Amino acid sequence: MGVCPISPAHNIYDLHCHSTFSDGSLSPEELLQRAADKGVNTLALTDHDTFAGYARAERQATALGLHMVTGIELSTQWAGRGIHVVGLNIDLQSAVMCEVVQLQERAREERAVAIAERLSKAGVAAALEGARRYAGEGAIGRPHFARYLVESGVVANMSQAFKRYLGAGKVGDVKNRWPEMAQAVEWIRQGGGVPVLAHPAKYKMTRTKLCVLTEQFKEAGGLAIEVISGKQPVGLAENLARIAHQFGLAGSCGSDFHAPGQIWQELGRFDPMPSSIPAVWELW
Ligand code: AMP
Ligand code: MN
Ligand code: MN
Ligand code: MN
Repeated sequence: MGVCPISPAHNIYDLHCHSTFSDGSLSPEELLQRAADKGVNTLALTDHDTFAGYARAERQATALGLHMVTGIELSTQWAGRGIHVVGLNIDLQSAVMCEVVQLQERAREERAVAIAERLSKAGVAAALEGARRYAGEGAIGRPHFARYLVESGVVANMSQAFKRYLGAGKVGDVKNRWPEMAQAVEWIRQGGGVPVLAHPAKYKMTRTKLCVLTEQFKEAGGLAIEVISGKQPVGLAENLARIAHQFGLAGSCGSDFHAPGQIWQELGRFDPMPSSIPAVWELW
C-alpha cells in the first residue's frame, strides 16, 4: 500500500516505537514499511537509549514518503522507580546527546552484568550470554533476559519472566545505573529536544504520586506527557490530558510498538489526541 496524500488534520503521528536496535523485532527498514502500510505520516523511532537505528530508518522514510522526527527513550530513575523519558526532535549531532548515548550504553552493559549476577544467585545460570544472544546487534535489555528465562524453561512466557524475575521490585530489576529523571530532562533540552514523560499509566502510581512526578518533570524542564500510549482504556487519555493541562504540558501520542501481533501496541493504531491541550508537534 502506498502513502496517500492526507490533509494535515488527519496526519497520523506515531512518536514512540522500537526497532532491533533496542528491544523491537523489526529492522528500521521493516519498521518504516509497516508504518507506511498502517497510514502513519510522521514517525519518531524512539529506541531505548540509542540513536543507532535512525540513519537507516530515515533513508527508508525518504523512500516511502514518510516524515521522520528524531527520537530516543531514555531510561531514568525517580524516587526508586524506573521512569522512561522520551526525547523528540533532538539534535543528534549535539555534543551532549553524543555523550548521553555513550553513558547510557555503558550503564546498560553494567546493568546487564548486575542482572545476570542476581539471576545467578537466584539459581539461573549463564543469563548474560543467553540474553546477549537475543540482543544481537541491539542494546541488551530486560526483554532479552526474559526470552532467555523462557528458553531455559525457568518460566513459561515473557509475562511470567517479568512478573517473577524482572519486573518492578523483582530480583532482576536493577535501576541504580540510570541517571535521575531530572538529569535526563535537562540533557534532552540541552540537545535542543522536547522531553516527554513516557506512558504515565504504566508506572501504576496513585494519581497523587503521578502528579508529584509530573510536577517535578515540569520543574526539570519537561514539556509534554504521553497522553496516548497505544490502545488505552476509555477515558484514560482525557484523564492524562487534565494532568497535562494542570502542569502546563503539551500532549504526545505513540504506539510504543515493539513487534507485530501485539495488537494494543500497533503502529498508528490509537485514538486521536484530546483537543484540550496543545500537541507536542506544535513545539517544533
Ligand atoms: P529495559 O529497557 O531493559 O529496562 O526493559 C524494559 C522493556 O521491557 C520495556 O520497554 C518493555 O518493552 C519490556 N517490558 C516491560 N514489562 C514487560 C512485561 N511485563 N512483559 C513483557 N515486556 C515487558
Ligand atoms: Mn521496550
Ligand atoms: Mn518505556
Ligand atoms: Mn518504549
